Amino acid sequence: MRNSARVVVIGGGVVGASVLYHLTKAGWKDVLLIERGELTCGSTWHAAGGMHTINGDPNVAKLQQYTINLYKEIEQVSGQSCGMHVTGGIMLAGTRERLDWLKMTKARGRYLGMELEIISVDEAARLCPLINKQHFVGALYDPIEGHVDPYGVTHAYAKAAQMAGAEVVRHTRVTALEPRADGSWSVLTERGNVHAEHVVNAGGLWAREVGRMVGLELPILAMEHQYLITEDLPELKGQKEALHCIDFEGEIYTRQERGGMLLGTYERAGVPWSPRETPWDFAHSLLPNDLERIAPSLEVGFEHFPALGRVGIRKVVNGPFTFAPDGNPLVGPVRGLRNFWVACGVMAGFSQGGGVGLALSRWMVDGDPGADVWAMDVARFGDWATLAYTNAKVRENYSRRFRIRFPNEELAAARPLRTTAIYERLEGEHAVFGEYCGLEHALWFAPSAAEASEEVTFRRSNAHLHVTAECRAVREAVGLLEISNYGKFEVTGAGTEEWLSHVMANRVPRVGRIALTPMLNERGRLIGDFTMARVAADRVFLVCTYAAEDYYRRWFERHAPPPGVSVRPCAMQYAGLSVAGPLSRGLLQSLVREDLSSAAFPFLSFARMDVGMIPALVGRISFTGDLGYEIWVTSEYQRALYDLLIAAGSAHGLRLFGGRALNAMRLEKSFGTWAREYRPIYGPYEAGLGRFVDLKKDSFIGRSAALEEKESGGKLRLVTFSVETRDADALGDEPIWHDGRVIGWVTSGGYGHSVQRSLALGYVPRDYAGLTGGFEIEILGERCKATPLGAAAFDPDGTRMRS
Ligand SMILES: Cc1cc2nc3c(=O)[nH]c(=O)nc-3n(C[C@H](O)[C@H](O)[C@H](O)COP(=O)(O)OP(=O)(O)OC[C@H]3O[C@@H](n4cnc5c(N)ncnc54)[C@H](O)[C@@H]3O)c2cc1C
Repeated sequence: MRNSARVVVIGGGVVGASVLYHLTKAGWKDVLLIERGELTCGSTWHAAGGMHTINGDPNVAKLQQYTINLYKEIEQVSGQSCGMHVTGGIMLAGTRERLDWLKMTKARGRYLGMELEIISVDEAARLCPLINKQHFVGALYDPIEGHVDPYGVTHAYAKAAQMAGAEVVRHTRVTALEPRADGSWSVLTERGNVHAEHVVNAGGLWAREVGRMVGLELPILAMEHQYLITEDLPELKGQKEALHCIDFEGEIYTRQERGGMLLGTYERAGVPWSPRETPWDFAHSLLPNDLERIAPSLEVGFEHFPALGRVGIRKVVNGPFTFAPDGNPLVGPVRGLRNFWVACGVMAGFSQGGGVGLALSRWMVDGDPGADVWAMDVARFGDWATLAYTNAKVRENYSRRFRIRFPNEELAAARPLRTTAIYERLEGEHAVFGEYCGLEHALWFAPSAAEASEEVTFRRSNAHLHVTAECRAVREAVGLLEISNYGKFEVTGAGTEEWLSHVMANRVPRVGRIALTPMLNERGRLIGDFTMARVAADRVFLVCTYAAEDYYRRWFERHAPPPGVSVRPCAMQYAGLSVAGPLSRGLLQSLVREDLSSAAFPFLSFARMDVGMIPALVGRISFTGDLGYEIWVTSEYQRALYDLLIAAGSAHGLRLFGGRALNAMRLEKSFGTWAREYRPIYGPYEAGLGRFVDLKKDSFIGRSAALEEKESGGKLRLVTFSVETRDADALGDEPIWHDGRVIGWVTSGGYGHSVQRSLALGYVPRDYAGLTGGFEIEILGERCKATPLGAAAFDPDGTRMRS
């Protein structure tokens, strides 16, 4: 074993081997993979090897497509067969809702170039004669599903990497990791030490334990998973290899395995494995079978696929594999650690392993993953994702693997966990809560406790009328919204302005003013949108997306401020309430000494004020697009502030509103939001944020790329559409058609209650942005006429928020 390497990859499962291969492909050849047993001895060896392109996040779906297309390449390079069987697959719907979901999936696949097809039950039975038609109403066909040989794939990656100069060391456990002063690592192993510039944790079942070597508690949990293989089926004899099938109602998947069938299930009562610590002596091992546990699924399976019930079971496999709380991988550099990377929590190694390796290798070599990997970025989980939280969410996620997640559905596990001081007050007002980063926030308010729950649906729900009333209150009088669930940073010290000016694309505002600003990466792509409020010469208060707090912190570490400037995350130290609507000024004026007239405190002003007895920071800004104020207080004052505003508000017709109404109103104003309209695949001019990029500044991160985008015009444009639809609005990821061709995609949509129209925001190629007709948006399988609105649907001149 060499004693130094540019990169040490810990773990020789399918993921570590893929990372190794991609590093060599990207030009880093001095790379070493250390495996404690044989390659594949963790989860990889007993996997069913199934692969598919579909994923809830289109960007992850793209990486899955990449993975599947990669197998031919690594076979060719390495000479090692991957044992590919591309049979095609069908997803079976047993209910109308499921068929709606499949139609949505098919539509989403369109702009990713997937050739998915909705087929009838008869067609499904023709493709897969084993099904009992009476249980199904339709299916989705995907021609590029199939399975691979886990051993073959892992060895093909490893061999191809070795041929390019990588080294693979087996039977050697990494026992400790010690950081060195220069950011590199001492990797301590059972067979000596290695000095590595970078370390990758691809420890799979032991990724948690490897994380703990550097003081990191990764949100990962292994679950037991069982599949069985039947004796040979006479029905399969002499036939073409059977298709892969997912039967959502049965919660099972099937595929052919030699002359029999493989049947696996994600049962509702899933069982975690080694919830606290993974034993080091577990290698090439399986767990005892527990057919009893999956008996309910098997019963349904045998009804839906009767031939399977007529033959015996040849083999049962029960093995563990890991999940993150939302089921997507954990990839990327870890905040607070230098040159430490993770590629773990990969629950579908044969669909995702290639994409994970590609993204991580680019990130390490080029400083950027080269694709939008937000959905699998390790930074999406903060400290709130503890071991027990992870346990609750992973069990929930596992049990729901084949269940529909409706767009308005809030999941119940691990709740309530984080609450603000007014939680009980809002509960008393019949709030229906949503969860975001473990934090409860009000989605909408019901008229009574009995009505405070929401039916889950792809269409408008029972919340619709109540949200209409909340929007009306804001547009006609005044509404009160809790805004604590934003991320916040305080940047202080001499040099604050210079540093922020370097990191953000816009100008730092003068004292007492607010500026909106994109944050760009070196490629000029959007990696954040912030509100900068200048409290004092050397103190700026930043408001941003809370879910991205760790993502931003990691960026701020990489572009560290000079000595003397402190960047302090303070999301939960500051709680917030916002009052918005034409009467909001009158309400707030009754509680403060300062003059709030537009002349004295115009739009985008920011000041320290006492609201009643409460010291607060007040900004004149509102995401509703109406006259409005955001009031920030340290958390201990939030309840008093709430009570004060409620008491004073009764004279002004104050009404509570929630996140649903806010979303509807921001759509009416064409205001984008992080992770929907603003993602690292878009530039600021494409996203309509060009006016917040100050190219007069000599330098800031991403300036030259932004200048280039401005001059060239970029490739895309964000457009607001009015959509002709009956009772189902666009939600995001629907295809945008023009003259019979898919040319773009929706980023978010919903009903604009004040303008009484269904609205959607989406990206189209720049040349299409000026067109006025010929557009359609596909919602639940129906192409609905969509008309581009040249400007925001509500108050396009912005007079209301400025008045
Ligand atoms: C029953 C079953 C069926 C499955 N079916 C499918 C399927 O059909 N399709 C699909 O895509 N996925 C499937 N999976 C999931 C798949 O197995 C995983 O996604 C994949 O194996 C994860 O690979 P990995 O490399 O991250 O982890 P692992 O395979 O666990 O690899 C991690 C490796 O790291 C090594 N290691 C850890 N710590 C150290 C250390 N300190 N020093 C040295 N080495 C170390 C381990 O020995 C291990 O070899 C299935 C899993 C199970 C259990």
